[in-house]
Amino acid sequence: MAVIHAMKIVTAKAVTLVKNNLEFNELELELKEYAKEHKVPIIFDEGLSFLEAIIRTKRPINILEIGTAIGYSAIRMARASGSNVYSIERDLNMYNLAIENIKRAGLDNKIHIIFKDALLAFDDVKDIKFDLIFIDAAKAQYHKFFDLYTPLLNENGVVVCDNMLFHGLVEDKDNIENYSRSVRGLIRKLNEFHESLLNNSDYDTAIYDIGDGMSISVKK
Ligand code: SAH
Ligand code: MG
Repeated sequence: MAVIHAMKIVTAKAVTLVKNNLEFNELELELKEYAKEHKVPIIFDEGLSFLEAIIRTKRPINILEIGTAIGYSAIRMARASGSNVYSIERDLNMYNLAIENIKRAGLDNKIHIIFKDALLAFDDVKDIKFDLIFIDAAKAQYHKFFDLYTPLLNENGVVVCDNMLFHGLVEDKDNIENYSRSVRGLIRKLNEFHESLLNNSDYDTAIYDIGDGMSISVKK
């Protein structure tokens, strides 16, 4: 798979997951099906495989997730590690579905959902130290989420961001004028975020062409 290094961004191509050891239980398969049917943008298998590998290696005690949706990735992360997952969601319908799904998974003692806009939820988690922060919400706000929540990251903590290549659009600089204004705005914001991450000397960052693009930033 392509590793996107320093300021050089290579053309995004779809990375196919060749082999993995992901196993899904019945509930998770149902959630995947639900997401497909209702166009809920849950994490791709490739991305999940990457994230779970990080979680098994790091064994985080506390994970912060920004963007719960139906609770799919929160459930997988809690299952992979036994970690406590704190996850923030601003959409009431998603929040209700997540609560129900997490109960069904028997993980309501491990996963705590905060029903708020993540830009307004700092006080809800400010007393917790996190070993992993997974950013997977409104792309235009990634930079703000990063700045707001990374003060809660432990030494050697990691920040993982999903959808960093935004279906390859971030890379597609030659065709940028073909997209709508709002999409162009998002692409510009994501590119700015890429640069700020790669220039942030407090973190070692790599952006991978996995799933919809995933970054990992390790606190130095
Ligand atoms: N992590 C989930 C998918 C999240 S989809 C999974 O892989 O299973 C993104 C979610 O982020 C959506 O449900 C959306 O409502 C939520 N979201 C977007 N911006 C947000 C914000 N500022 N605060 C809280 N939630 C937000
Ligand atoms: Mg995502």
